[in-house]
Amino acid sequence: MRQSMTVRRKKKKRCQWCAEGIEFIDYKSISRLQRFMDNKGKILPRRQTGNCARHQRQLAVAIKRARIMGLLPFVTY
Ligand SMILES: [Zn+2]
Repeated sequence: MRQSMTVRRKKKKRCQWCAEGIEFIDYKSISRLQRFMDNKGKILPRRQTGNCARHQRQLAVAIKRARIMGLLPFVTY
């Protein structure tokens, strides 16, 4: 029996920050940060965003900083 292969592959994503040559993520670039959050305000996991470890880490810091500054919402349940 051959199972039909379900293609779970989305667009092949690479780290967008690396692609754009961004060394340090600015917490003030909210529109950018929001692309890496879901509608609840949670930071998306790396497998979904395609970020590299370095930038994912920076992103998390940037988002946290933006939250404290009141630029981004905290996680809402
Ligand atoms: Zn990167």
